[in-house]
Amino acid sequence: MKPQEIMVVPPGAVAGLEGGEAVRVESFGRKAADLGRLTALGLPVPAGVALSFDCVASLAAGGPMPELALGLARDGLLALRPSPEERAWGGPSAMLNLGACERTLNALTGRVGPVAALRLHIRGVARYAQAVHGLDPEEVDALSRKHLRGAAEPEEAALRALLADVQALYADAVGEPWPEDPGEQLEAAARAMARAWRAPTARILRQAKGAPEDARLGLVVQRLALSLAPGVSGCGSLQLVSGRSGAPEIVGGFALRSQRSDPRAQPHPLIRDAGATTAALEDLAPGAVERLAGAAAAATEGFRDAHLVEFALEAGEPAIIDSVPVRRNGRAAVRIAVDLANAGVISREQALLRIEPRSLIEHLHPQIDPGASRDVFGTGLAASPGAATGRLVLSAEAAMTAAAQGEPTILARVETGPEDIRGMHAALGVLTLRGGMTSHAAVIARGLGVPCVVGAGDLRLDPVERTLTSPDGRVFREGALFTLDGTRGEVLAGAPAMISPELGGAFSDLLDWADAVRDLGVRANADTPAEARMARDFRVDGIGLCRTEHMFFDPERLMVMREMILADTEAGRKAALDQLLPMQRADFVELFEIMRGLPVVIRLLDPPLHEFLPQESEDLHALARAMELPVAQVIAQARALREVNPMLGMRGVRLGLLIPEIYEMQARAIFEAAIAVNRDARAPVVPEVMIPLVSANREVELAKARIDAVATEVQAEQGATLDFRLGVMVETPRAALRAGDLALSAAFLSFGTNDLTQMTYGLSRDDAGRFMRDYVHRGVFTEDPFHTLDLEGVGELMLIAARRGRASNPGLVLGLCGEHGGDPSSVRFCKVAGFDYVSCSPFRVPIARLAAAQASLLTRDGSDIPQ
Ligand code: PEP
Ligand code: MG
Repeated sequence: MKPQEIMVVPPGAVAGLEGGEAVRVESFGRKAADLGRLTALGLPVPAGVALSFDCVASLAAGGPMPELALGLARDGLLALRPSPEERAWGGPSAMLNLGACERTLNALTGRVGPVAALRLHIRGVARYAQAVHGLDPEEVDALSRKHLRGAAEPEEAALRALLADVQALYADAVGEPWPEDPGEQLEAAARAMARAWRAPTARILRQAKGAPEDARLGLVVQRLALSLAPGVSGCGSLQLVSGRSGAPEIVGGFALRSQRSDPRAQPHPLIRDAGATTAALEDLAPGAVERLAGAAAAATEGFRDAHLVEFALEAGEPAIIDSVPVRRNGRAAVRIAVDLANAGVISREQALLRIEPRSLIEHLHPQIDPGASRDVFGTGLAASPGAATGRLVLSAEAAMTAAAQGEPTILARVETGPEDIRGMHAALGVLTLRGGMTSHAAVIARGLGVPCVVGAGDLRLDPVERTLTSPDGRVFREGALFTLDGTRGEVLAGAPAMISPELGGAFSDLLDWADAVRDLGVRANADTPAEARMARDFRVDGIGLCRTEHMFFDPERLMVMREMILADTEAGRKAALDQLLPMQRADFVELFEIMRGLPVVIRLLDPPLHEFLPQESEDLHALARAMELPVAQVIAQARALREVNPMLGMRGVRLGLLIPEIYEMQARAIFEAAIAVNRDARAPVVPEVMIPLVSANREVELAKARIDAVATEVQAEQGATLDFRLGVMVETPRAALRAGDLALSAAFLSFGTNDLTQMTYGLSRDDAGRFMRDYVHRGVFTEDPFHTLDLEGVGELMLIAARRGRASNPGLVLGLCGEHGGDPSSVRFCKVAGFDYVSCSPFRVPIARLAAAQASLLTRDGSDIPQ
């Protein structure tokens, strides 16, 4: 027979909370450590001890309870609370009122009167019976109903009878009399909690919250705060800042004669409030709110973060039960971090590291009020953040007509194309049923800063009936009022309450601090003067990508562009380009003026020419009539130019080489504009001309020769000299691999990671939205690679290109101008890879500025900034 093992209390099993910092989180868990810290701060925390992870494991295996804890049980009721390493992992519920027995009942009766003492005991017995022996709480409730009949102020005799009945119920169910020894109760309760922690369902639950498989439990045994006592007793919480705005404000509530999480308790405000129907705590217990506010301030300073204190009052006397970081939204997080740094509680670097860059979105756009109810009828990809409410329109024309009448609209299309751009300008939000994160709709909407949901494939759009139908069969007619949440990718019926953007104050202070530490440039992708102005307002370091094709969609220009495309002689094409030249020049003059002193990268024409021609037969007929051309010729030409996704034919530099007049006109417009702007003595513009979709060095050499020739010609004509830089877009895998050659002709390489991702994966960027959610959901991709840079594949190509490019041209400037430029983890990658800048949509510039600052701080030599 195996000898009986004698179990002993493990070494270091127990620590008094007054030990302060010695109650370490790694041994005793988060709650114990925090209570130790609060005690050390001098706050009135009820006396108690922490039981270590080892001690709790030993209790689960039948080991003994440390004497220090048993000592506490001898004089008064206790609270037993779980203390895992992370609060978020949860754990068994706390057990209050532990240690109910005749002796304690008598002692408590002397202190708080018979009614409160009896109530505490009844609860203690019921909770113990439930947690340790699985008694159904409904049986105790039935006894309560019988004895108390819902009385708010029950009689002592009724309570006494109830206690006796609950103890009898216990004895009946358990087969033993009620354990009168508080130490025995404590030991059994701790063992029950320790075993509950090990139960398979509890383990699965906490693993879903991020806990490791071997997560451990500590426990805290504390004297109970007697919040059911007569006088102003009860429980509540108080914090010194608003969780919605981060502004200083006393927020919280108090429930008279209640214990924590008592659903029946009636709440009282802390501060006098004209609208409140109950008295405020500041009137009920003068001085208590000040003391509690002092405790919250001490906790905030002690923990170096805005904290909420949970408290109990016994006859007006506060006890601090717990202290946790204030729950906050993205806006409040910024205000709180900046205020803490200004108050010297944390450093500016710590403030910068505390904010999730993506959360800055909440400052930039209107958002649906988090408290508003949401009637979601469709979902898609969250392609451009913010929220907007408007009437449903199904065509760009309808959006423009409504805008002319001041009517807000949301434009819904199966997918958008260049002909929709003006409608997108006119609408407050854009919804498409197809498309991914870099689809036309997504890119344009981000540039415009309007909310956009793409790939909402569950919705059906009927262009004939002019309706949008939800998966659950609801039909929305054109004109119906609905709301788009581009931050979450949701489509909602009706008009929920909104909160407006907030760009000043703490937000701009934080970004100033970010600029002071970052060394990665942040430029904007901006195609129009309006976007360039917006970019300047967001304090960019330049324009990293001006997509010139967007300049041709103005109706007047589109017509000339179409003439150029449909011209069948070189002279005809030249005549059209001559008309476009002054318009382009004027565009660039405006852009250079706005961005004066900062670099501006202008990309020569990229998309295939069919994008400038109408698609529908009716429109082609109209075009033929307008141009006085045979309709058959227009249709044939449109057909000949048509490309299907992913449009990898006659576009980019290929177009530039095969119809060289286009690039020559654009280069001329750029140089003439720069010389015109540089005529005054202010900071000169140094234009950066960028060639798209390169795959071979010879393409660059040929295009460069023509561009250089134009530069020489323009300088001679104008009698002026001009500096410009020529750059190449790396957006094909071959260009990445051959970057060493490209760098010989280029001053800079800019990675077009939208196309580079498309081509590296062999995945059409416009079709990816159809299945991306499923793919990510099933774990095939960890993230949408059009959203967050794929470091393993695309990232490796970029590293190869950067190394080869810099090896042949050490002064080579490296940038990224795909949509990834506004994604924090992609920005960090660029910093680590030694890039000079990232460029993204203007509205994502603040995110990139903060992400770049964080990357600098985290890669700084000897960086060990405590969070
Ligand atoms: C890219 O491909 O990453 C890019 C910036 O160009 P576009 O999105 O215009 O193709
Ligand atoms: Mg591209």
